[in-house]
Amino acid sequence: MGARSGVVYLVGAGPGDPGLMTARSLALIASADAIFYDRLIPPGALDGARKDAELVYVGKQPGVPSVPQEEIGERLIEAAAEGKSVVRLKGGDPFVFGRGGEEGEALRAAGIGFEVVPGVTAGVAATAYAGIPVTHRGDASAVAFVTGHEDPEKGESALDWDALARFPGTLVFYMGVKRLAENAAALIAAGRDPEQPAAAVERGTMAGQRTVSATLGSIAAAVEREGVGAPALIVVGPVAARRQQLAWLEHRPLHGRRVVVTRARAQASGLAATLRDLGAEVVELPAIRIEPRIESGEVRRAIDSIREYSLVCVTSPNGARLLFEALAAARGGDGAAAALDARALAGATIAAIGPGTARALAEHGIDADVVPERFVAEALVEALAGIEVEGSRVLVARAAEARDVLPDALRQRGAEVDVVSLYETVREQPDAEAVEAAQGADYVTFTSSSTVANLTEALGDRFPAGARIVSIGPVTSEAARAAGRTVDVEAERHDIDGLIAALLADAAE
Ligand code: SAH
Repeated sequence: MGARSGVVYLVGAGPGDPGLMTARSLALIASADAIFYDRLIPPGALDGARKDAELVYVGKQPGVPSVPQEEIGERLIEAAAEGKSVVRLKGGDPFVFGRGGEEGEALRAAGIGFEVVPGVTAGVAATAYAGIPVTHRGDASAVAFVTGHEDPEKGESALDWDALARFPGTLVFYMGVKRLAENAAALIAAGRDPEQPAAAVERGTMAGQRTVSATLGSIAAAVEREGVGAPALIVVGPVAARRQQLAWLEHRPLHGRRVVVTRARAQASGLAATLRDLGAEVVELPAIRIEPRIESGEVRRAIDSIREYSLVCVTSPNGARLLFEALAAARGGDGAAAALDARALAGATIAAIGPGTARALAEHGIDADVVPERFVAEALVEALAGIEVEGSRVLVARAAEARDVLPDALRQRGAEVDVVSLYETVREQPDAEAVEAAQGADYVTFTSSSTVANLTEALGDRFPAGARIVSIGPVTSEAARAAGRTVDVEAERHDIDGLIAALLADAAE
């Protein structure tokens, strides 16, 4: 269900890992008219927002004047009163140290309808990612979420340290780094055992999550020594030591490795997500961008006679996607829209250059007839050897800058070949922050020749020194060598899965 107009949704975005956002939060973000968001929301959390949605940052940043809480309430009320559907997006859960309660009260007082969408709170998520179960049979039958940093206006501490010291279970402190030394001392003074295990979890569930283990008596010094910074949680109780058996994040195959993904942003998400799942810290540094060209005369002419081709070759997932966009944008003879779909290809044999392209075709209901094992034009030429093309019309739908291996081979066999460029890959200026983050990279991955050439040129001497170069296949490797790079790893299977397999094998060595 999408967001309703005039309603404010108090939405939890989870602790930082985008994969921990709820389905409901994503649906609301995708449909809201206005989104008021905090600082601690997962990277890319707003990617699914409508293009015309109003995105308003109302977060607090250390040392920077922030939007006062009352004003946030007023702005939510104002937006909803204008009839907008409003998402108020907060880190973790909105009702766990998120001031969601205050905002709900302000909305109620103003007569504005609201709904609360719980999020995965850091207290259970950062701990889980650190291998610390907040309850555990024998160790803890209760858990308390405690603020370690109270409202400074409150003056005297409202926390009952005697009760917290006696609390029969795990203590999880939010906002607990700044006052850690005082708080730990207060707990010990009130009788909590200084030898009890404790841990600090920094940036839980996010890239670069780090956990520091100690005891209650030594945690403040350990946190100071290791330079643990916000956001971090402090866990006190025997469960903190369970990490020795239950840590898992650190065991993932690419944990601690920084990997640069150079694909165009539109295509990078699958590769980036898989690498993150394997534990890598991913830096997206796209060197190229896909520029559709489906409005060109050659594409229109090809679409007009689409039913006359007996063979249609598609040479990339982007090509597949844009071929269907071009069909959908087709015009009838009188210039009126006459949207076409997969049925226009019913009579043709369909060849895909590789499994990724075949998958993209399958999304439109086309089961490709020819898919070579190896993902290069030469392999497609071989795979097409058994198909009669002499005298028949063939369409090769591809990128503007592709090689001519395939059309040349088909022409030699007597086919009448039309080559159309569905898109062009144009250079993308690398983002300065990403370039900086890429400097310590362990790996740079290349998935096409155009990315190698463009990135090498764009980065110059800022190309991450010491990173191992991983190439998707021989053509890309050749381009890398031509650009003066040494290829350290080349995939055996020339697709994304093959590239990941090769990177994993190398990392395991
Ligand atoms: N509503 C949020 C908490 C907001 S208070 C929630 O439910 O999670 C902010 C505090 O939450 C931080 O100071 C830190 O103690 C904790 N926190 C939030 N995200 C965190 C993360 N990814 N890792 C560790 N602690 C986190």
